[in-house]
Amino acid sequence: MVGSLVNNGRWRLPPARSEEQLQLQTFLTTIDLTEEEDNYEWELGGAQTSRDSTGEVYTYLRPTLPKVSWEAVVWTKRGVPRHNFHLWLVVQDRIPTRDKLLRWRLQVDPLCLLCNGANESRDHLYKDCPFSFDLWTQLATRLRLQPLRSCGGTLNQMIALLKDKPLTRMKSSGSNLVSPPGSIHSYTWA
Ligand SMILES: [Zn+2]
Repeated sequence: MVGSLVNNGRWRLPPARSEEQLQLQTFLTTIDLTEEEDNYEWELGGAQTSRDSTGEVYTYLRPTLPKVSWEAVVWTKRGVPRHNFHLWLVVQDRIPTRDKLLRWRLQVDPLCLLCNGANESRDHLYKDCPFSFDLWTQLATRLRLQPLRSCGGTLNQMIALLKDKPLTRMKSSGSNLVSPPGSIHSYTWA
């Protein structure tokens, strides 16, 4: 409680460790304390609220960005969270492929582990690698999709797949992969 930082009418504040903390402490010393009990008050964006909500604070603090076209593909309700998260990293080219590991100065072989024929990168794994493209071709054929050597093109196919009742399409294709695009991707490459 704030009152515990006052002794005999004088503030006993710990040394400030940042400019913000210094400003807060300077402000505190302008407040006249009373003998009343301390109580909490929550204020968010200038408006008082009756309760604290981590979700509301998170929404308030985070930057507001425009929605991306692939949002529905990555964050599907029936998806396996691990697969969804991995696809989210893939779409943003944030998976730790070997080209990135080398940039982080890690001592690794630059060649693709699957084909050993070219340097490993997100685009190689999802577009150019003959091994993974052959795998994707087999799965895409069962889904009646045209296998593309294009990350953006494949992503657009996934977006269209969601609008095209994917479960119906996958069941009729004889596949037992009754999962959304995130899992299609993960079963194929991850
Ligand atoms: Zn490869």
